Amino acid sequence: MRTRFAPSPTGPLHLGHAYSALIAYEKAQAEGGRFLLRIEDIDQSRARPAWEAQIYDDLAWLELDWQQPVMRQSDRMDAYRDALRALWEAGLLYPCTCRRRDILEAASAPQEGAPQLGPDGVIYPGTCRNLPRPAQMPMDTALRLDMAKAVQASVVFEETGPDHQGTITTTPAQFRDDIGDIVLARKDMGTSYHLAVTVDDAAQGITDVVRGADLFEATPIHVLLQRLLGLTTPRYHHHILIRDEAGKRLAKRDDARAIATYRDGGLNPADVRALVGL
Ligand code: GLU
Repeated sequence: MRTRFAPSPTGPLHLGHAYSALIAYEKAQAEGGRFLLRIEDIDQSRARPAWEAQIYDDLAWLELDWQQPVMRQSDRMDAYRDALRALWEAGLLYPCTCRRRDILEAASAPQEGAPQLGPDGVIYPGTCRNLPRPAQMPMDTALRLDMAKAVQASVVFEETGPDHQGTITTTPAQFRDDIGDIVLARKDMGTSYHLAVTVDDAAQGITDVVRGADLFEATPIHVLLQRLLGLTTPRYHHHILIRDEAGKRLAKRDDARAIATYRDGGLNPADVRALVGL
């Protein structure tokens, strides 16, 4: 049994992160499993070594310990490239040169009505889907998943979180209409959150993914990618989001609720637990 906490080093960890890490840690402890850490730093324009260092300090202060070595996504580009190549060779990816504005315009054309939103924003209208595919997988263009080709049957996963407990099924029609052709390799990154998280949860042997309810909608995508790449599907636990007094989700820039602010203000880890209701 293995759980993980997978923060991005793009700002200070706040109470919502503490909640997520503590739930994952305690779940592993309760079942004699292991707790792993992964630094999700594929967005090198935003990731900073100082934030990564603070993640370790904050988690240690919360009295968590984790297995070494820590996986860092910026070291894993070859693994992502291999997964993309497998999907490319199966004929499931195509290059996309659309800019954000092109997509918005095509998706809001008069006959289309208001653009429909999926887990990654506006659902891609398919502009580049049927262009001739180059013989080699390009490295310098965004790559999209051809959803109609990729999904042949419904995809299921087991959810243990409070909001949606049970077996969650996503049909081919839902993948096509509500998710669409998502980007699996961004031009500026060579990968994407969806691809990296799927490849890495498998590489770390994660059996129980614990994360916030904001990622629930992304999970069918990850389970589909597991199917396509021949990877095992873990159980999922999407926990509630910790909100501020106004009911707003906490953000990285909300320094008032940063773990470091509470620590510097003289609170102890038990106080932080109490603040998030644990
Ligand atoms: N890196 C993501 C974040 O910091 C979490 C990804 C996940 O748990 O799947 O929001």
